[in-house]
Amino acid sequence: MSEYVELRGDRSVMHVSVAALRKQLPLSLRAHIGWVRRKVAPHRIWDNAYFIDTYNWLQETQWWSRDQLEQYQLEQLQALVRHAYENVPYYRRVFDEIKLKPRDIATLDDLVKIPLLTKEDVRKNIEGLVARNVDRRRLEYTTTGGSTGEPLGVYHEQPRTNLREWAFHYRQWGWAGYRFGDRYAKMARGMIERIKMNGERASWDYATDLNELLLSSTKMHDEYLHKYMDLIRKFKPRFLCLYPNSALILGRFLQRHSITDIKLQGIFSDSEMLYPSTRELAESGFGCKIYDHYGLTEYVADAVQCEWCDGYHVNMEYGILELVDEEFRPVTQTGSLGTVVGTGFGNYSMPLLRYRTNDLASFASGTCRCGRDTARIQEFRGRVGDFIVSNTGKLITVNMLLGGHSLVWSKVREIKFRQEREGELTAIVAPASSFDEKELAEEVRDELYTYLDEDEFAVYVELVDSIPRTGERLKLAILEQKLPLRLADVRQSSSEETPMAEENSNSR
Ligand SMILES: [Zn+2]
Repeated sequence: MSEYVELRGDRSVMHVSVAALRKQLPLSLRAHIGWVRRKVAPHRIWDNAYFIDTYNWLQETQWWSRDQLEQYQLEQLQALVRHAYENVPYYRRVFDEIKLKPRDIATLDDLVKIPLLTKEDVRKNIEGLVARNVDRRRLEYTTTGGSTGEPLGVYHEQPRTNLREWAFHYRQWGWAGYRFGDRYAKMARGMIERIKMNGERASWDYATDLNELLLSSTKMHDEYLHKYMDLIRKFKPRFLCLYPNSALILGRFLQRHSITDIKLQGIFSDSEMLYPSTRELAESGFGCKIYDHYGLTEYVADAVQCEWCDGYHVNMEYGILELVDEEFRPVTQTGSLGTVVGTGFGNYSMPLLRYRTNDLASFASGTCRCGRDTARIQEFRGRVGDFIVSNTGKLITVNMLLGGHSLVWSKVREIKFRQEREGELTAIVAPASSFDEKELAEEVRDELYTYLDEDEFAVYVELVDSIPRTGERLKLAILEQKLPLRLADVRQSSSEETPMAEENSNSR
C-alpha cells in the first residue's frame, strides 16, 4: 500500500543552515514563523495552478453520477491505451503479439482484453515501459514500499504526479473537515531522525509550509509517546495522520495510561491494513473517526473512506480498480474476495495497464449514505500473505488474534507474528514496561489460545526490547509469513467464514 507522497526539493547550503537554526527554536515559535511564511509566500501546493485546477475539478466530479464517471473512465482508458500503443515499446510488443489494437477497447468491459501486468513484468521491462515521447530529464524514479520482496520502481513526471496525488488526498481530508493550513500531526517514518536537534537525533520536527507536526513512528517507547502527547497538547492539531500499526500502539498507550484529554477531529490512516480492532481503539482514544486510504505507490488505483466510513469510495477519476480471482477472471459479485488490479490515468510517462497486486478486497453493495455514486470497496483484507495456517491447513486472518479486549494487551507495547511452518506461530512481543517476562509470555500465549485451537497451533512467545521496522519505509509488518500462500486458498477459506465477515460489516 502506498503512502502520502512527500514533496521535498533540494535545498541550498544556505537554506540548510537557516533551517538547522530554526529547528533549535521552540515549537510555538516555529508555528508562528510558519503562519507568517504561509501568509507571505506562495504555497508550493495550494497556490500551484495545476493543483488548484485538479482540486476544483475533483470537487465537482465527486457528485457525478455513475454513468458520468464511467463515461469519463472510458475516455481516459481509450486515450491511455492509444498512448501506450503508440509510444510505449513494451505495450506495442505485447499488443502486437495478441493482435490487439487500441480501437478494440470500445467499452469498459473490453479492459479484460488487455493482459494483466505483474510486478515481475514491470521489473523485467522497466525501460521498455517508459514512453518514448516524454522528456527523460523530467522523470523521477520512485520505489514502492517493498516490505515483502524486492522493491519496485516507477518512473513518473514531477511535480505533476505528486500534485495530482495531493488533490485527491485533500479532497478526502476535506470530507473530514480539513482546510488548507489546519494544524495536523503526522507520525512519519524514520526520515526525521536524520535531523539533529540540540545535538541529538530528532524524534519530532515541524514542517512550516504544511503546518505539520512530525513525530517519529520508529520511536514509540513510552518515554517518546509521553513526549509526543505533550507536543500534541501544545500544538493542538485538529487531525492526526499515521500508519494503522502506529495507531494500534498509540491507542494501547492511551488506554494503558488512561489519557483521555486529547481529542481530535479526525485521523487519517494509510499504507497498511487497518484492522477493525485498531480502528475501535484509536477512535475511542481520540474521540473521532478514522478516515482510511488505500493507495499504491505505482499510481494505479486509489480508494478512500468518506465521512460515513462505510467501506471505501473508489476514486474513479484516478483510475480503474478491478478485482480478479485466482484464475484472473473479474470478480464483480459484491462481498466476494479478489485481488486488486489497477489502471491509473495519471502517469503517462510509464503507463501501467491492469497492474496486479496481492491486496485482497471485496466490492460493497448499494450506495453510500453520503450520496457519492462511485464504486465502493466493502473491505480490504490485507495481502494474500496476511493469513496464518493451522496444521490442518485452515487459514485464519492475523487480525483475529488482536481483536480481544483482554487486559494482557495493556502490557504489550508492540507485537508481531512470524510463521515458518504450518501449525506453528511465534508472537514477538515488546512489553510496555518491566513486567515479569515469564508471566507476560504465559498471558500472551493464553490470550492467543482463546482464538486458536491448541490442537492446531503451537504458539511460542519471544520477548524483545523493540521490534525492528522493515523495508525502506520502516513499517512494522504485523505478520512475517514465510509459507507460500495462494489466492485460491484464501478465497476458499474466506467463503467458508462469510457469516463472520457479514457480521463485521454490519456492525460498522
Ligand atoms: Zn460515502
